[in-house]
Amino acid sequence: MNNFLIHSKRCFINNQFIDATLHIKNKKIHQVINGSHTIDNIPFLDYGNLIVMPGIIDAHVHINEPGREHWEGFETATKAAAIGGITTLIEMPLNASPVTTNVKSFKIKQNASTHKLHVNCGFYGGIIPTNANEIEDLIKAGVFGIKGFLTHSGLDEFPNINKQHLEDIAPILKKYDIPLLLHCELSDDNIPEVINPKNYNEYLLSRPQHWETNAIDLALDIQEQFDIKVHIVHLSASEGIERIKNRKQATRKLTVETCPHYLFFNSEDIPDASPIYKCAPPIRDKSNNDSLWRYLLNDGFDFLTSDHSPAPPARKQLENGDFFKAWGGISGLQFILPILNTEGKKRGLCLEKFIPLLTENPAKFLGLEFQKGKLKEGFDADIIVWNDSETYTITGESIQHKHKATPYLNEKVNGKVIHTFVNGIQVVEYSKLISLQQGKLLLKNNK
Ligand SMILES: [Zn+2]
Repeated sequence: MNNFLIHSKRCFINNQFIDATLHIKNKKIHQVINGSHTIDNIPFLDYGNLIVMPGIIDAHVHINEPGREHWEGFETATKAAAIGGITTLIEMPLNASPVTTNVKSFKIKQNASTHKLHVNCGFYGGIIPTNANEIEDLIKAGVFGIKGFLTHSGLDEFPNINKQHLEDIAPILKKYDIPLLLHCELSDDNIPEVINPKNYNEYLLSRPQHWETNAIDLALDIQEQFDIKVHIVHLSASEGIERIKNRKQATRKLTVETCPHYLFFNSEDIPDASPIYKCAPPIRDKSNNDSLWRYLLNDGFDFLTSDHSPAPPARKQLENGDFFKAWGGISGLQFILPILNTEGKKRGLCLEKFIPLLTENPAKFLGLEFQKGKLKEGFDADIIVWNDSETYTITGESIQHKHKATPYLNEKVNGKVIHTFVNGIQVVEYSKLISLQQGKLLLKNNK
């Protein structure tokens, strides 16, 4: 079926909910018609009062294939994405093996995704201390940005870089106007000694706010010095907000994201010996997270991402509970919408503000704003239908990720994705996959 109509009394168009009919034809939104409108011989899908909106664009996902497909793979991750209402995701240059730090490894990763993309998928390239001369070719090959770490990434194959490495590649990033994505933690020895590695608070104190703020200062320096696009991934430290705010007043080239786990959980509630909650930077205390929410409600964050970064249960040290030995990463791709919607409702986040943070805004960051992220004529027909009044509990059976281990298990949430369309094809119907391999591999046209 590549010619049909979708109607809802609540289509999210031009930042408001309106009664409209979308005519979907040849993978695109062919026409947007006000009100309920039928056309002879064209199927009419009437979704009543359910929300119809652009598919979610998750600009920060770790899929780990090839090389670590026992952690997560394209098949399972993109199925989880489709069920969760994510129609486009951008995959990070780690934790697959090889890591995406040259064109050869980029091609290997693209090949590994063949016949496994159930939603659209693009990629970032990575900067490590030894690959400055590979960056231009990676950009030309179609990555959406270049990601680097300012502290140990957790993977020896992806060592962290310093200011000099960033200065070396900044002119290339400037030439192609491509964003530099930075994991902002700058480690030092100014941390307490660990006494009980199963105590969450000790883990929290081992990655203090000043690691993030020192790294943010470095990121802002690079941004200002070279006038390049710099994106701060997964902000957790609220002490970073003021400096980001100030710099953002001077430039539109600085962007910042945060993730559901920093907005949904608080360190006070994390039990000891539960590294399922371990991520870096860490989930901080309630007052910190309240500040993140205030910044979000004041339009500070450019967009929100899952930072889905799963690992097998043994790697997460789920049995022995050692926060320091466990892999740092939260598995949650499938649940970005209900988690943020649930907490957002409590915090007074209206849907008109919430939806663009998952659709239009990441599309703009990725340079896809003329193609994705809006229900607009000529745009790709990546569309989701969801019920914002359905409350349910996240169960193990519903999880499509490779591993069921996620801190969101058993959480009572609000907001359920019912139908998902990818490139004009319905891939999810009543929360079940009905069509596979409808996703496209996305390469950015960097000229
Ligand atoms: Zn990440």
